Amino acid sequence: MMRREAKGRGTHSGLRGSEARGLIVRLIRVFEANSDFLASQGWVVSDARSFSWWGGLESPDEVAISSFLVQLTRWETVAEVMKRLRAQGIASIEAIAKLSVEELDRAIINVNFHRTKARRLKAFAEEAMRSGGLLGLVSPANEARLLGIEGIGIETAKSMLLFIANAPVFPPSKYSQVVLSRLIGLQLGLRDVEELVEDAVSGDVYALKMIHAGLASVGKAYCSKRSPKCGECPLRGICSFPKRRNEEPGPGIA
Ligand code: SF4
Repeated sequence: MMRREAKGRGTHSGLRGSEARGLIVRLIRVFEANSDFLASQGWVVSDARSFSWWGGLESPDEVAISSFLVQLTRWETVAEVMKRLRAQGIASIEAIAKLSVEELDRAIINVNFHRTKARRLKAFAEEAMRSGGLLGLVSPANEARLLGIEGIGIETAKSMLLFIANAPVFPPSKYSQVVLSRLIGLQLGLRDVEELVEDAVSGDVYALKMIHAGLASVGKAYCSKRSPKCGECPLRGICSFPKRRNEEPGPGIA
């Protein structure tokens, strides 16, 4: 949890509502100006309701499948496996539900923990088909049900709701927690991060996707816990952390 006193929803981060909204606007501006960097990290800046945000994938089914495959696996490997599933005509939840665990395991063998993921993905696909299809299962009303499925934690559940169902929720992640905490100079908890962003964007799905993609990219590429590379980071001009380390923000800040 954040280190300042506990506050009600809307002031949980220690920022006033207008400050939080201003921060979100500045972040979106920087991320839009650095869309090539986001693409290099597997995020394709797209229209609000597009499924392409996830590395240019083509359907909600592909987003759901890759959300299992990407856990503890590099995106480049997942993208290759997705291509193969597409070529074999099995890049859909309906097709996956019909495969045996062994067949699915062979098809995704390049990802880490493929056997476990094959079992979990097949169980998810079967649950979706029992719900009338993917969108019958992935909906805000079913968040608790999603969280009850093996392999789906809070970040994956909220990511599915945002990127598959276009629900106005923010997936809290370690990356967004570290980056946002350093940006504003306060230690935030995962719940603080989620509420700060959701309150500041007022249901704007494009903003939620952009903030998630941008913070994940910065967190992965630059903002490691032990040795952040602030001099190369696109957020160095608006982040409080380099200033507190007596570093001058570099030139060329978007
Ligand atoms: S400027 Fe440094 S501390 Fe701030 S987000 Fe970038 S890498 Fe992290």
